[in-house]
Amino acid sequence: MSALPSIARQKELLSNYESIAKVVSETAKKYVQHKVNLVAVSKLKPSSDIMGLYNEGVRHFGENYVQELVTKSQELPKDIKWHFIGTLQTDKCKILAKQISNLYAVETIDSLKKCKKLNSLRKEIDGDVINVYLQINTSDEPQKSGYSIVESERSLIYESVEFLLSEECSHLNFQGLMTIGSIGESFKDENEDFTRLVNLKNELNEKYSLDLQTSMGMSNDFEDAIKKGSSSVRVGSSIFGSRPPKN
Ligand SMILES: *Cc1c(COP(=O)(O)O)cnc(C)c1O
Repeated sequence: MSALPSIARQKELLSNYESIAKVVSETAKKYVQHKVNLVAVSKLKPSSDIMGLYNEGVRHFGENYVQELVTKSQELPKDIKWHFIGTLQTDKCKILAKQISNLYAVETIDSLKKCKKLNSLRKEIDGDVINVYLQINTSDEPQKSGYSIVESERSLIYESVEFLLSEECSHLNFQGLMTIGSIGESFKDENEDFTRLVNLKNELNEKYSLDLQTSMGMSNDFEDAIKKGSSSVRVGSSIFGSRPPKN
């Protein structure tokens, strides 16, 4: 089992988490009629920090790096609901599917190939169903991963959705759409990326009779994301503090 944080750190983490959770629930109550999930993004932060929040009842944690997630999932309690939110490489699907029994969601699927791989590998160990989000490059930025938001490439999204809804896809549950959005947009009052994601969600709900969710909003812009209809926000630095640089 993992070490606990110092008492001072524990207090700081709890106070940060609670103030974010309060804004999340108040914004949701004021603007939308659904509950909004808060995922605590713990990448590059020690397992002791996660234990500090876990002991206060927090269960949803987000991680970006496969090896770091494997290590943490091995040393931390099995009822944690891990969200993988980092860039997903095809050759890492195997580790995610096979080594993390309590992997709750993969939010960064960006191809049919990755849908198929994740499903068949999870099936091989007959693991619990993984919730998946298709990542959408709503800002149409070349350096961002995700399915293109451009209308002419919509068939790639349809193709993946149809696989996720097929009988063959027994070990993935299509939960919704995810976006990061451009940095520039998050400094404006209104983030057009969030509107674009919600419009696409509505289109898919209509086309396939679904009730999809949206994962959008981070420390800087989660209030706006909730106003626009986000079902799940991913907040890191406002809870855990600023991160060290990766390596
Ligand atoms: C790191 C990260 C977050 C959290 O970002 P903060 O600005 O620290 O809240 C959310 N989503 C993704 C995809 C991330 O990589």
